[in-house]
Amino acid sequence: MTKDWYPVIDYSKCKGCMTCFKFCPHGVYGTKDEKPVVANPGACIDMCRGCEKICPEKAITHHSG
Ligand code: SF4
Ligand code: SF4
Repeated sequence: MTKDWYPVIDYSKCKGCMTCFKFCPHGVYGTKDEKPVVANPGACIDMCRGCEKICPEKAITHHSG
């Protein structure tokens, strides 16, 4: 089964504050070169937009379908 709901980071907007990494309780994010990476997209909760809402740069969107 293909995972069809996970966050996507726009690195042209991301400032590396790591708010998303600290916020997500499901271990979706990892880090690389002091920026967050979507390390475990399969762990993202369907229709959750928590990290998207708290990103101060509005750099996170969610892939769907
Ligand atoms: S919360 Fe937004 S700006 Fe901060 S690290 Fe995550 S994606 Fe980047
Ligand atoms: S949408 Fe929710 S579960 Fe998915 S990465 Fe963001 S905070 Fe974590």
